[in-house]
Amino acid sequence: MGCISSARKASPLISLETFRAIQERLKGRKKGESERTVNDEDFPLRGLIHCAKCGKRVGGGWSKGNGGGYYAYYFCQNRRCDR
Ligand SMILES: [Zn+2]
Repeated sequence: MGCISSARKASPLISLETFRAIQERLKGRKKGESERTVNDEDFPLRGLIHCAKCGKRVGGGWSKGNGGGYYAYYFCQNRRCDR
């Protein structure tokens, strides 16, 4: 009887199916959230600021720095603008 009681204690609180369902939900939610929040956090000014030269909206992107790392930068979306 001691074995049965200890086995009950060791059993997980949720079933394997529930665990998998939660994992899938977390995976899907995490993916959707990261796609949105990454843009917002990395380029908070994208779509909000305008080019000082031509007035067009400014986009955001990543550029590789001299040190090998990447840094965020903003660029004018007007191709004819030399800024
Ligand atoms: Zn411009």
